[in-house]
Amino acid sequence: MLKEAARAEVRQGETTGAEDALKAKPRDAGIVVAEAGAEQELTDGFHLVIDALKLNGIDTIYGVPGIPVTDLGRLAQAEGMRVISFRHEQHAGNAAAIAGYLTKKPGICLTVSAPGFLNGLTALANATTNCFPMIQISGSSEREIVDLQQGDYEEMDQLAIAKPLCKAAFRVLHAADIGIGVARAIRAAVSGRPGGVYLDLPAKLFSQVMDAKAGAKSLVKVIDPAPAVLPAPAAVERALDVLKSAKRPLIILGKGAAYAQADSEIRALVEQSGIPYLPMSMAKGLLPDTHPQSASAARSMVLKEADVVMLIGARLNWLLSHGKGKTWGEPGTQKFIQIDIEPKEMDSNIEIAAPLVGDIGSCVSALLKGIDGNWSVPPVEWTSAINARKEANLAKMASKLLKNSSPMDFHSALGALRTVIKERPDAILVNEGANTLDLARGVIDMYQPRKRLDVGTWGVMGIGMGFAVAAAVETGKPVLAIEGDSAFGFSGMEVETICRYNLPICIVVFNNNGIYRGTDTDPTGRDPGTTVFVKDSRYDKMMEAFGGVGVHVATPDELSRAVNEAMDSGRPTLINAAIDPAAGSESGNIGNLNPQSVVRKKAAA
Ligand code: ADP
Ligand code: MG
Repeated sequence: MLKEAARAEVRQGETTGAEDALKAKPRDAGIVVAEAGAEQELTDGFHLVIDALKLNGIDTIYGVPGIPVTDLGRLAQAEGMRVISFRHEQHAGNAAAIAGYLTKKPGICLTVSAPGFLNGLTALANATTNCFPMIQISGSSEREIVDLQQGDYEEMDQLAIAKPLCKAAFRVLHAADIGIGVARAIRAAVSGRPGGVYLDLPAKLFSQVMDAKAGAKSLVKVIDPAPAVLPAPAAVERALDVLKSAKRPLIILGKGAAYAQADSEIRALVEQSGIPYLPMSMAKGLLPDTHPQSASAARSMVLKEADVVMLIGARLNWLLSHGKGKTWGEPGTQKFIQIDIEPKEMDSNIEIAAPLVGDIGSCVSALLKGIDGNWSVPPVEWTSAINARKEANLAKMASKLLKNSSPMDFHSALGALRTVIKERPDAILVNEGANTLDLARGVIDMYQPRKRLDVGTWGVMGIGMGFAVAAAVETGKPVLAIEGDSAFGFSGMEVETICRYNLPICIVVFNNNGIYRGTDTDPTGRDPGTTVFVKDSRYDKMMEAFGGVGVHVATPDELSRAVNEAMDSGRPTLINAAIDPAAGSESGNIGNLNPQSVVRKKAAA
C-alpha cells in the first residue's frame, strides 16, 4: 500500500478512482492535484492484482519476470505469495495448469508481453483442451499504440490472439476494475467445464493509483466459484434403466472424475455396483490399480465386448477411438451413459443413450441412491471372463519386468520403477515420452487419486518439468518424473529451477539416444538421422551443473537404488538411465497415427 501526502501529484492517464478519491481539483496541464491537508492512503494496480488474488485464496504464481510484470512478482513475494520463476513461460504455464488440476483452484501463470505471452499461450491452450483451470495473466503494451499499429515495444493484440485458444479472455483498463476482472477470470476458469482463461493487463494499469479504501472495496471475493450442477431426476432414472439392462457393463473413469475430487462416491459406485472399470491414464489410482474390479489388463476385451459403457468424466475422443471402429463392438450393439458437466460433450462422436449432465460428485451420488437395495451385480460370466483375460495378460508381462539386463529395455527399467511407486504410493508420477509414456502407463500401478500426471488429451511433449515443479510446490510430496530423452529436452533447462527452489524431484531420463529409437540414419550419409540425438549423452551432468545430484545407471538394480536414494534425500536428482537404442517402437502405441510414405524415393546418390 502506498502512503503519500495529500499533495501527491499523479500523472493523468495513470489515475482512475484516484480522481474522485483524492477529491482532485480540475485537471491542469495533465496534473491531478489532491486537496491540501488530508492524509491519503493510496494503492495501485500492482497491489490490487495481488490483493484480488489473495482475497480469493490464490497463494502461488508461476511465471517469468520481465517488462511490465517484474515488480508484480516482487511485490507478490513481499506480500507473502509463493512466486516460482521459471526459465521459459511454457513451463510456468504447464505448472499453473497442473496446479489447477490438483487443487481445483485456478493456477496462475504470469507472463510478459508479446513473446512471453505467446510462449505461455501453448500451455493455456493445452490447459483448456484438458479441462484444467488456469489463468494466464499477461502484461501487454499500450492500447493506444497497439491499436493504431504504431510499433510499440513488444506490440501485439494479445487479447484477440488468446480468445480462440482459451475458455474466456478479459482485459482490464482501469485499476478500479481489477477486482471484477480477477473475479470473472476465476469464475470462468473453474465453473462448469474448467479451462484456461486469459487476463490482459496493459503496462499502464499497474502504476495507476487510487484511494486505498476505494480500492479494497472494489475487490470481489468470488462466492461459490464452481457451483454444483445437479442432474435432472429423469436423466438419473434413464441412466439407471440403461445400467440395469446391462449384461456386460463397464465403467470408464476419466481425468474429469479425478479432478472432481469425489473419490469416495466414485469408489462406492464402483464397489456397490460390482461393475468392472477402466481408468483412463490420469484416472489411474482413483481406485488402486490392483483393485479386483479394475479391467485395465483386459482393456481391448472389455471395450469390444461391453454392452453398456458408462463414461464418468472421460470423453469419447481419439484416446477412446471415438467410440467406434475396430476397438469397439459392432455398431449399434453398445449403449453409452455419459456423466459430464458439459452438455455439448454428449453425442460428440456417437449417440449417447443416457446423458447425465452435472458435476460428477452430484451425479454419482444420485446414481448411488438408485443402486441401493434391489441391485443385482453383473453376471459372473462377464466378470470371470475379464479376470481370466487379466491373469493371462499380467503373467505375460511379469517375466519381462524382472530382467536385470544391461543395457536395459523399457520393461526391465520400468519394472524397477513400478516397485518404487508401490512402496511409495503417495509420490507423484510425472510421465512423458513415446515408448516411455505408453509402457509406463501400463506397467506402473497407481494407488492413490491424482498421482499420475501426464501428456493428457493432446499427448503433448514438454509438460514434464512444469508439472513436476507444480506437483512438488502444491503437494509437498516427492515427485518422480519418468521422461523420454526427447520429451525431457523440451523443458530440460528447468532443472535449474528445480535446484533453485530445492524441490524434491527425481527425474529419470530413459536415454535411448533418440526419438522412438536411437538407430536412425541419414540415407545420404551427410547428417545425423532426423530422430537421433548425441549418442550416450549424460543428462545427469545437467543436474550437477546446478548443484543437484546426477547419477548414471545401466541396470534395473542400479536404477532402483538411485531412485530410492533420491526419494529418501529429497534432493533434486537426475538419473540418466541407459536404454537399449533398438528397444523402442515408432510412435510408441500410436504408430497408427503416424503416416508413413509408401513411395519412398531412393536416397540421392
Ligand atoms: P480422459 O482424457 O481421462 O478421458 P477427458 O479430459 O477426455 O478425460 O474428459 C474429462 C471430462 O470431464 C471433460 O469432458 C470435462 O467436461 C469433464 N469434467 C471435468 N470436471 C468435471 C466435473 N467436476 N464434473 C463433471 N464433469 C467434469
Ligand atoms: Mg528416446
